[in-house]
Amino acid sequence: MPLHFEPFYQNLIDTLAAYHLAYSTMATDQLTIAPKKGAPRVNQALALLARAAFEIENDPENIAKIRDYAQRLPQSSLEKQEVELRLRQIDDQEAIPADFYQELIQTRADSGVAWHEAKEQANYKLFQPHLEKVIANTLKAQTYSPRYNGTNSYDLALDAYEAGMDQKQYDEFFAVIKEELIPFIAKVQAAQPIDTTKMNQVIDAERQAKFAQIVMDYLQADPERVYLSTTEHPFTEFFSNNDVRITTRYIEDNFLGGILSIVHEYGHALYSLNANPDYDKTMFIDAIGSGAHETQSRFLENHIGRSKAFWSYLYPTLIEHFPEFKDTSLDELIAMINASSASLIRTEADELTYPLHILIRYEIEKQMANGTLDYDHLPQLWADLYEQYLGIRPSNDQEGVLQDIHWSDGGIGYFPTYALGSAYAAQLYEAMEKEFDVDQALENGHIEKVVNWLKENVQQYGAQKTMRQIVEEVSHKPFDPHVYTNYLKNKYTKLYHLEEQ
Ligand SMILES: [Zn+2]
Repeated sequence: MPLHFEPFYQNLIDTLAAYHLAYSTMATDQLTIAPKKGAPRVNQALALLARAAFEIENDPENIAKIRDYAQRLPQSSLEKQEVELRLRQIDDQEAIPADFYQELIQTRADSGVAWHEAKEQANYKLFQPHLEKVIANTLKAQTYSPRYNGTNSYDLALDAYEAGMDQKQYDEFFAVIKEELIPFIAKVQAAQPIDTTKMNQVIDAERQAKFAQIVMDYLQADPERVYLSTTEHPFTEFFSNNDVRITTRYIEDNFLGGILSIVHEYGHALYSLNANPDYDKTMFIDAIGSGAHETQSRFLENHIGRSKAFWSYLYPTLIEHFPEFKDTSLDELIAMINASSASLIRTEADELTYPLHILIRYEIEKQMANGTLDYDHLPQLWADLYEQYLGIRPSNDQEGVLQDIHWSDGGIGYFPTYALGSAYAAQLYEAMEKEFDVDQALENGHIEKVVNWLKENVQQYGAQKTMRQIVEEVSHKPFDPHVYTNYLKNKYTKLYHLEEQ
């Protein structure tokens, strides 16, 4: 049933949705097709738009009305739950001065531009002052929250991306990752490596784009609701319940990267496409945090996009489009798609070593949030951690500390959700497999079975529940990171024939 709000409140959410639409359209345009030189002008407009929306949201008169309205709404109504979710966000923002907020948005935009430039030139020094400023301003914004107590900066940052999480819980989570995966990865690295040279055959972007369309069809992506374009760092932008933009990039000597990006981003898109349409424009329409989102994207990427069942359906078409692979058997292809080796770039990392890339960022973020990071030596620290956990060192900043966009807009607290999302996804997959034969559905091109299960059990709730709540309800047990580490160990024990040793 659609939610019914008083006209003042409905008008407020309609207005904010309009600002959001304008902002995301411009931001998406900038990251996909806009000419580079227009960026400063667009950034200025984005900052002004964000400020205008911020002022509406944080207008003291409006806030008083919303607080009063929350009191009048019936206790257990969805309307009350929605209004309270908004108030929680308002509480965090209310005391931020509008001038500072605009400065923060401007800092983020400028820093984004500087990051692009610095990454292109592989020169951290160009980015360092922007990074320091954007992180400082982001941390300063938190100090206005009533939940800020002088020492919980990182807790607040983590909670912003995955409601209910804090440093203590993440420390426990990453302790399991370290204990279970580091010695196991050493065993995999000592095993006979899988030769993946065939995966690096050059396939031009045009042919990749044609095959990408076939993957979109396999996913049953509705062209009337989802649009795919290309970008530097793939992302998904949600415009409305019926308009989601996903992006990918085609790397000539790594066609798999472009395909897996589509599958990953489509997982994000599904969250918005499958949320209950009655929640349109409300706080419920999107996931409660990006962590919840990553659960769905990583579910699709790892459990679907890297599975033998998925590729067994697409294999004949793959050979047709990329005759380069005509001498490659399906089993060889699957082994190459899942092969594990220490690598420098997070977005190209295999499923097994991926959480270690996150562990490294987590350890750096702790220092950022707690004010102990030495920014002058950040590239050094980055390289040392890669050496410690993965045994390799980047040769320049582009393949080191500058590779990811997240910190450039102050997004600390985001990275850890990638690893947690993978762990949640593994527990959801375990639950799904108990209900139907997932491989059979994928082999027969019936991905709708998977999508409907996710819609029914997870996505329809939007932000109404936290992902931890959903995972525990669906699997009928508490969240346990060992489900994830065991899944990885089983998968890679088979792939590398470790049981025979
Ligand atoms: Zn993602």
